[in-house]
Amino acid sequence: MKKLYLIRYGEIGIKGKNRYLFENKLISNIIKALKNEDPEVDVYKTYGRVYVETKIKEDKAIKKLKRIFGIVGIAPARKVDLDVDKIKDTCLEMVHNDLAKEGTTTFKISARRNNKSFELDSMELNRELGAHVLINTEDGRLKVDVHNPEINVKVEIRADFAYIYTKDIAGSGGLPVGVTGKSGLLLSGGIDSPVAGWMIAKRGAKIVPIYFHSFPFTSDRAKEKVIDLAETLATYQGETKLHVVHFTDIQTEMNDKCPEELTTIIMRRIMMKIAERITLNNGGKSLITGESMGQVASQTMESMYVTNMVPEMPIFRPLIGLDKVEIIARAKEIGTYETSIEPYEDCCTVFVPKSPETKPTPKQIAIGEKNLEIEDLIQKAIDEVEVININPYE
Ligand code: ATP
Ligand code: MG
Repeated sequence: MKKLYLIRYGEIGIKGKNRYLFENKLISNIIKALKNEDPEVDVYKTYGRVYVETKIKEDKAIKKLKRIFGIVGIAPARKVDLDVDKIKDTCLEMVHNDLAKEGTTTFKISARRNNKSFELDSMELNRELGAHVLINTEDGRLKVDVHNPEINVKVEIRADFAYIYTKDIAGSGGLPVGVTGKSGLLLSGGIDSPVAGWMIAKRGAKIVPIYFHSFPFTSDRAKEKVIDLAETLATYQGETKLHVVHFTDIQTEMNDKCPEELTTIIMRRIMMKIAERITLNNGGKSLITGESMGQVASQTMESMYVTNMVPEMPIFRPLIGLDKVEIIARAKEIGTYETSIEPYEDCCTVFVPKSPETKPTPKQIAIGEKNLEIEDLIQKAIDEVEVININPYE
């Protein structure tokens, strides 16, 4: 038996003439997320609503829908013919399903008649349906409360059917992934960058994660950890192409030819250059990092100034104004924290200078990079980038 879910999508309803693009993307993202488990899943839209009909078990279906960006609310609903008696019986059944085990439960009917040709208007519906529920329920078990009811029975009278629901579960909000474009995410194994990527995916961008791996200075286990993180991100954004850049030769060269105190910042600049090209190759137009103002010595305004000069595309730093505790809370919420705190090092911790320059200037950088001729190495790293395809729905 298929179950019906009514999908509310707030923000994307207000995008003017682009609205259908947003709706269609949301619909195709929902289909992708559910069709492996239910090849006959039905997703369609009418009158500013998206409906999902699927035979996937309710708990599981809701869990999946809650991860899809663009969905504001998910209401498990019943679809009934436009027949007053049938609507009455369904309301009664749904209230009885939701009744608390003991004591008095409060309820109300909130009817909306979009179909003006239906025989009762919303006031009449509220009255008649409410009376039907009360009369057919054991004395003392139900009381009407129009302000703050425990069970709010929503009844929508549409052109084709009546839709009835009592629960509206919060979705992730945001915009459907894909509608705002693609963005390269510099994904390390730390706490911050997965959260940064999640935030931009939530705003509708498909994330292309890029990880700089310095084997054997960083272990294969560090890479596995980044794969795990990309897999978690994929449960929100769908298919994900993780790019692993083999960075050892470049890092070694840089450590031989650059002043020690500048290696961190020069490395960050090289990462930007490589990430920008990979992102362009994937049709992306921006980069994302997990930097937060002043969080560590290298995350100063001066450092960001000199790294920002490298790519032409914008660099998004969605965590810039967050405190570490706020980032950790979000990481826990989205399910990346436990992986991020595993103890394997990412490449930044390998060649850490004893006293890194925290206020680099463009002039200093120019001098620091003057012996560095790594264009060939950079091209080689890009040519040999390892792409790991992640499909969370398989
Ligand atoms: P995170 O928790 O994301 O690792 P961090 O607090 O360790 O961040 P830094 O080491 O200064 O901070 O790194 C800043 C940002 O640079 C990271 O958030 C990430 O976007 C990027 N970055 C650092 N190391 C790597 C790497 N090995 N591969 C890809 N991106 C990286
Ligand atoms: Mg880190």
